[in-house]
Amino acid sequence: MNVDNRVIAITGGARGLGLAMAERLGSKGARVALLDTHRDTLDKAVASLSERGIQAKGFVVDVSDEASVIEGFAAIKGELGPVSGCVNNAGITDDAMLVKAKEGEIEKRMSLSGWQRVIDVNLTGAFLCGREAATQMIEANHAGVIVNISSISKAGNMGQSNYAAAKAGIHALSVTWGKELARYNIRAATVAPGFVATEMTAAMRPDMLERIKQSVPLKDLGEPCHIAQSVAFVFENDYFTARIIECDGGLRL
Ligand code: NAD
Repeated sequence: MNVDNRVIAITGGARGLGLAMAERLGSKGARVALLDTHRDTLDKAVASLSERGIQAKGFVVDVSDEASVIEGFAAIKGELGPVSGCVNNAGITDDAMLVKAKEGEIEKRMSLSGWQRVIDVNLTGAFLCGREAATQMIEANHAGVIVNISSISKAGNMGQSNYAAAKAGIHALSVTWGKELARYNIRAATVAPGFVATEMTAAMRPDMLERIKQSVPLKDLGEPCHIAQSVAFVFENDYFTARIIECDGGLRL
């Protein structure tokens, strides 16, 4: 797909990887709709994109809330036109061990609320936004691309039962949608980043971060632009669907 003048929705687009994707796709002429939870961060992101000559608009949406997603996508369609692309990038972590014990005594367990919140945002959010995006693409009778942002943690990672399950699940959505939606000329694929320098990783303990860097074959964190490049590849390659790009410097968990 040539993204020039196409409307592309990017969830969690106000900062980090989502904003880098908006820059990349916007610099190729896409009109980007950023969906995020706070008006002030959206406004800042839109201003920074506008300075670079990129057409962008911010929409306050909680991707885990069905009504909010339906309303948000309706607003995008009303203000920019039906979407041709959707990047399901919004994501959170809430790490905890399933069960933590010391000398046979249970100290802590992952709470149901901690499990549910991560599943709601990272997995249900992608389902809800993917459903609205595909609906608009089919109704407009134009080609579409949906990119789901997974993670290296999809393979299973200590302390991340909720996140790993959601990130494995989001790739299963890409495979399913790639098969289901091909008849409507809609492609769906996954990009799974490794560890990338964003606010999400800046919140990690420095010694842990250093250990991670040393375990990456390329000996460094990725940059947001590397992930944005992978997302742009999915848009541009018309024979790529139901598959995954692992952009992780060669690291395997
Ligand atoms: P980030 O925390 O910097 O940005 C995430 C954005 O999502 C924020 O702007 C946040 O406000 C938004 N968001 C959170 N909950 C939302 C909701 N309910 N509705 C709408 N927006 C919401 O994170 P990031 O590092 O840019 O990560 C982006 C994606 O990439 C996430 O899905 C993350 O799991 C994935 N990822 C990141 C890394 C990394 O190293 N940074 C690695 C692998 C995967």
